[in-house]
Amino acid sequence: MNPLWSKLPPVHEIDRALARRGLAQGLEVRDLVGELLAQLRQSPPLLETLDRAGLLDWICTQVAAQAGGQRPVINGTGTVVHTNLGRSIFDRELLAKLPELFSGYTNLEYDLDKGQRGQRVGGAEKLICRLTGAEAALFVNNNASALLLCLQAFGQGKEVLLSRGEMVEIGGSFRIPEMLEASGARLKEIGTTNKTHLKDYQKAIGPETSMVLKVHRSNFKITGFTSEVPRKDLIALAAERGLVYLEDLGSGALEPLELGGGAAEPGFSSILAQGAELVTASGDKLLGGPQAGIILGTKARIDRLKEHPLYRCLRCDKITLFLLEQTLLSYARGAWEKIPTQRMLREPAQAVLDRAQQVLQACPARNLELVPTQATPGGGALAEESFGSYALWVKLPGVSEEELHLAFRSLKTPVVGRVKEGKYLIDLKAVTNEQLPTLVQAIQSVLAGPSVGDP
Ligand SMILES: *Cc1c(COP(=O)(O)O)cnc(C)c1O
Repeated sequence: MNPLWSKLPPVHEIDRALARRGLAQGLEVRDLVGELLAQLRQSPPLLETLDRAGLLDWICTQVAAQAGGQRPVINGTGTVVHTNLGRSIFDRELLAKLPELFSGYTNLEYDLDKGQRGQRVGGAEKLICRLTGAEAALFVNNNASALLLCLQAFGQGKEVLLSRGEMVEIGGSFRIPEMLEASGARLKEIGTTNKTHLKDYQKAIGPETSMVLKVHRSNFKITGFTSEVPRKDLIALAAERGLVYLEDLGSGALEPLELGGGAAEPGFSSILAQGAELVTASGDKLLGGPQAGIILGTKARIDRLKEHPLYRCLRCDKITLFLLEQTLLSYARGAWEKIPTQRMLREPAQAVLDRAQQVLQACPARNLELVPTQATPGGGALAEESFGSYALWVKLPGVSEEELHLAFRSLKTPVVGRVKEGKYLIDLKAVTNEQLPTLVQAIQSVLAGPSVGDP
């Protein structure tokens, strides 16, 4: 046995240290601790440099970072719909309705009037049709599923026209051309990256063509010498040539969103009003609801999708349907404050400043500086647009901004800020009022020095 191994803290001491920090101690944590101890036995440098307390500390930090599944995180990035932090968040009062409804059975597919199997409850579908003017609606797992279903139902084995300027890749594994391929449709590239004309589409239409696809350029902008075909011309062309018109709206604003910079995110209604037959979007981006794919369109097109066998594989579960319905109900009532994503997007900078000042007052002033920032909507909406916000610049002599970034991420309730121009910033735009006390504790704990009494 390696003599250094005697420095390893015994399990009961580790348990006590974990308990002191309020860290969970289930079976998974026990397994994780076992792995960490094995890792330490293989790592002489760590064993040589750290004393027993240091080793305990190292183990606790690793457990805090790795144990369990999802846990609360404070979003100090200034990006409201943060794709890596769970996108849209929910109102507490809405979540409070879940236990009563879902700890029992529901009328999901039961006709209470007739006493027999019925249609899946369609509250959310009716609401979104009323709010957008769509003839019909369908909900699936996410926007990627929505696209897959539409492409497979109307484009399989046929050609789909798409501008070269709209062949986007969105975070991770989502690329429009690959999506098309997976659906069995054949991509026909139109125009060039910067310029696409109506005549390019007209020339490309052949006997195999089934669909005109338009995709929102979620995360980039094409500027300079550019031109694209106006939506209404594309819609008219599709109608004239008997093709399906499908638009992937991406972020899915129910109402047009403008940040003051001139650019606006179009709402569903305006696109449907121009005659778009099928429009898809995400439920958890600008809409502010649960993860879902929203498909709006004409009754004839939506009916075809409902009958497609793939729909059965992609449909939403009852909790998602309920959360969607409730989110849409808040839209119908104009109750933005019940939809956190919308509340944050609409909130004036002054409200962010108030939150920043509350935190400032509770923390050591010499380590914090209030700085104006630009926050972004995120979720692929209005790329390159931003709104005025405020952040706290955390300064600790001798500690770099990257070290601060890591220290805040290592807390029991991690704070994810951002580093900009050598400064570690915690933006208050996407921090809720309820989270302020936890944020104050987090800042105090990091300023008190590494690894001392994590909140
Ligand atoms: C985000 C996005 C998607 C993917 O949506 P998910 O809901 O994540 O599946 C597809 N298309 C565009 C244009 C997007 O912005």
